[in-house]
Amino acid sequence: IDVTKHFKVSGGMLGLTTGTVRAVDGVTLSVERGRTLGLVGESGCGKSTLARCIMGLEPVTSGEVLFGNRSISAWDEKKLRSKMQMIFQDPYSSLNPRQKISSIIREGLDIHGIGTRDERREKVQQLLKLVGLRPEHGNRYPHEFSGGQRQRVAVARSLALDPKLVVCDEPVSALDVSVQAQVLGLLKDLQKRLDLTYVFISHDLSVVSHICDQVAVMYLGRIMEIGESRTLFADPKHPYTKALLSAVLRPDPTDRPERIALTGDLPSPMNPPAGCPFHPRCPEAFDKCRNGRPDLMDQADGMRVACWLYGEQ
Ligand code: SF4
Ligand code: MG
Repeated sequence: IDVTKHFKVSGGMLGLTTGTVRAVDGVTLSVERGRTLGLVGESGCGKSTLARCIMGLEPVTSGEVLFGNRSISAWDEKKLRSKMQMIFQDPYSSLNPRQKISSIIREGLDIHGIGTRDERREKVQQLLKLVGLRPEHGNRYPHEFSGGQRQRVAVARSLALDPKLVVCDEPVSALDVSVQAQVLGLLKDLQKRLDLTYVFISHDLSVVSHICDQVAVMYLGRIMEIGESRTLFADPKHPYTKALLSAVLRPDPTDRPERIALTGDLPSPMNPPAGCPFHPRCPEAFDKCRNGRPDLMDQADGMRVACWLYGEQ
């Protein structure tokens, strides 16, 4: 399934200075250096595929992704791989069980032929320390670690080549809530220390609210609402965003808006509904929604929302 057809990433920069991925419908995703952009949506909404397009791991149907002013296709492949790294959801399957932790972390350095043997060994020690592990952990194997520790190993591995951009695909979804908080704390701390830029993918808005500066809510491969995280959580506008938020547990239950139940299944991205892609499930749909597809429209508070309730009515 070529879900990338729905993105048609057509331009922009990521990571090095300010970043933009522009979709054909005029969508602009921007990731400023040192900040975190969250991509949120149900599974199958295309967020992982978009991430793979950003990484250059998936061909885009049309358009291009720019990284630091240059199309990723114009980058030297090896160089690009060192500047952009990815962390995956499952710390169990993403680490080779037969490899020692130290050699897992060192792999990128070996492949890129960086430093002498001793320098590489030293770098692995530094990386272990950086992610809160001890030097002797390097001699162990993945199965000797908890999920949270394995994800720390995955983080250390992703940082070995001093990347600028790290794409985190559901990095804490497989972990217990208390461990999630620790790993998120680590990611935040590393971002500050190393001036990292993150694209953070999650289906979980509460996780996103803890780490993201900006959020893009995706549905069927399109962006429904995008803007500063603070604004989005304080005043969600798109009916889909509201539905996602209403499903998130809040610390104060009286503060919780009534849960908006989403009826119907996620339609196939290969055959999206006409009009607003969300209309078959939208509690606020009206006539116009069945025919015209709303583009992202600027709001007074800086948000951009693709919904007929927020412009051109
Ligand atoms: Fe709902 Fe219509 Fe807005 Fe789509 S455009 S989200 S169907 S109100
Ligand atoms: Mg996914």
